Amino acid sequence: MRIVVDRARCSGIGICESLDPSHFEIGDDGALMLLSDIAAEDDDTVLEAVRSCPALALSVQPE
Ligand code: SF4
Repeated sequence: MRIVVDRARCSGIGICESLDPSHFEIGDDGALMLLSDIAAEDDDTVLEAVRSCPALALSVQPE
């Protein structure tokens, strides 16, 4: 699946990074960087990070 970021919603709080640092990283400029936008369908870690975004800025789509 592909991870999608709505950058208009993302406020750089970094909860996603704390839950899944293999996919999400907050840069020095405070902007979210996707280290990889691809994840396995059964990757519960990335799904937890997506669900936990308080700004609803994250979603996943089938590849
Ligand atoms: S948790 Fe949501 S608002 Fe916070 S940095 Fe990640 S995507 Fe952006």
